[in-house]
Amino acid sequence: MSALPPGSTIGILGGGQLGRMMAMSAAQLGYRCHVYAPEGDNVAADVSARFTSARWHDTEALIAFAHDCDVITYEFENVPVAPLLKLPQELLAPGPRALEVAQDRVKEKRFVEDAGGRPAPYVAVDHDNELAGAVERIGVPGILKTRRDGYDGKGQWAIDSGADAQGIRIPETGCVYEAKLAFECEFSVILVRGRDGEVRFWDSTRNRHDKGILAHCELPAPAIVGEQLEQARGLAAKVAEALGYIGVLTLEFFATKDGPVFNEMAPRVHNSGHWTIEGAVTSQFENHVRAICGLPLGDTRSVSDTMVMDNLIGRQALDLATHLADGRAHVHLYGKSEARAGRKMGHVTWVG
Ligand code: ATP
Ligand code: MG
Repeated sequence: MSALPPGSTIGILGGGQLGRMMAMSAAQLGYRCHVYAPEGDNVAADVSARFTSARWHDTEALIAFAHDCDVITYEFENVPVAPLLKLPQELLAPGPRALEVAQDRVKEKRFVEDAGGRPAPYVAVDHDNELAGAVERIGVPGILKTRRDGYDGKGQWAIDSGADAQGIRIPETGCVYEAKLAFECEFSVILVRGRDGEVRFWDSTRNRHDKGILAHCELPAPAIVGEQLEQARGLAAKVAEALGYIGVLTLEFFATKDGPVFNEMAPRVHNSGHWTIEGAVTSQFENHVRAICGLPLGDTRSVSDTMVMDNLIGRQALDLATHLADGRAHVHLYGKSEARAGRKMGHVTWVG
């Protein structure tokens, strides 16, 4: 594909904050965005030229949307794959195979194992009567996770004893039971892969979670992350290569004393890369746009050795004046209508 000229239309499947920030980067480079998402708080549509509000399985609406787009990407990894297969495949970047793999925690772990990676010990639990055996085999403490549709720690049960597993109903789409690992810290590898196969990485931050939700990222990460980065990056690049991936891809890791353990992947820009908007020469959002549009990739280097990003979760986000009282804070609010507990409403970045 030759580079898409400015004025072309980027289709974004999903209407959340990731799409919103992607659309803002696309606008900077002279592109128009067309957001497609089911009804909801579609904050990406607020900053885009066009918006189609339709269900994921509305093939007619999807085809009409595709007619208006020069390339189609995703800001949400749980877009159903089957309807996408009815669209011209050359429009989709990355290809739907990346979604298919990342949408199922078991498929994802197997895929990464095939690429040479190591997830936490796990076993698929597809029926109620398989859970006790899985807990026996993997041991406690462990975490039972739904295979599909989990995010921000939703769809997870902590299993600290055999008794905790009793009475849990396994959903129809299945679960995976995995060992709960002791780790030194968490980090992610965020890469961008261009249409020509060139791969670039951003620096890896230390990621801190609160109740299963990313709360905080910081640079520099502890030394252990630096020691494990080469191996983690090698794995991420292999996964991207195996998928023929185009755009930004994220792999989350636990830094354990036995090396990096793969947690999960996201076939998209990632919350742990929001700091790159101000903290790197080229942000994850801009490089995603560059990659899918067939443009040269931008420099991913950090502009400073130190950086902090805090997510604004729930009601704390509403006090804009307080956040702005710190003149060095880069404040981002996503424009969501309702600040529910546990909902990502914005983030703040400090560089240097
Ligand atoms: P998100 O979409 O926000 O990344 P998610 O709902 O897909 O989250 P996971 O990434 O699987 O959930 O888990 C969320 C957090 O829970 C992890 O970042 C980590 O802090 C903790 N966690 C998950 N699995 C394990 C594990 N096997 N051992 C130890 N901690 C874990
Ligand atoms: Mg995660």
